[in-house]
Amino acid sequence: MNKQELEKIKIKAQEEHIPIIMDDTLEVISKYLKDIKPKRILEIGTAVGYSAICFSEYLDKNGVIDTIERDEIRVKEARENLKKVAVEGKINIYEGDAVEILPKLNYEYDVVFIDAAKGKYPFFLEQSLRLIKPSGIIFADNILYKGYVMSDYNKHKQRTAVRNLREYIKEIQENEKLETQILEVGDGLAISKIKE
Ligand code: SAH
Ligand code: MG
Repeated sequence: MNKQELEKIKIKAQEEHIPIIMDDTLEVISKYLKDIKPKRILEIGTAVGYSAICFSEYLDKNGVIDTIERDEIRVKEARENLKKVAVEGKINIYEGDAVEILPKLNYEYDVVFIDAAKGKYPFFLEQSLRLIKPSGIIFADNILYKGYVMSDYNKHKQRTAVRNLREYIKEIQENEKLETQILEVGDGLAISKIKE
């Protein structure tokens, strides 16, 4: 892993206002990944590959990440970035809409990281529950969405996103197979562990 290149990728993404994972969120997830040593991670929302590159450091020997991105330009940049830090062998990028790609996947994952269209979180959860291993962990980023989710703010133009994020939270809290925590790191991080 070329750390200097990784830092450049991070700075460029920030300058271009690409919503890459925040440092405190990354720190929390990294702690889990260190313990799990995942064989396979699923990421929904690659952007330019920053989070996937960071996670790849904690993979088990021969472990892989499958990551999905629908924006053609970002996919291209992500592929270049993987080469720059020399992790292209560990990360598979699926180009297209996760809503179409997820139902076609049939691997088992130790970890899922949901970080794409907020209006689709309930669907992403349904698919993640289908694909996650027993004792696996599903992380969902931006779950508190700048505080809108926990306020009574309903008239925002992003109300569909807010409604779907609230539905996601309700489902993870009510699902008896999950042990869930919601942390106020970054833009809000939901951590749902599958009970064994
Ligand atoms: N995980 C990245 C940031 C992802 S930003 C990181 O931390 O480095 C969210 C990305 O999800 C955007 O690039 C957006 O194009 C993509 N996205 C949003 N909805 C999607 C969908 N339905 N299918 C695939 N990609 C999606
Ligand atoms: Mg995010």
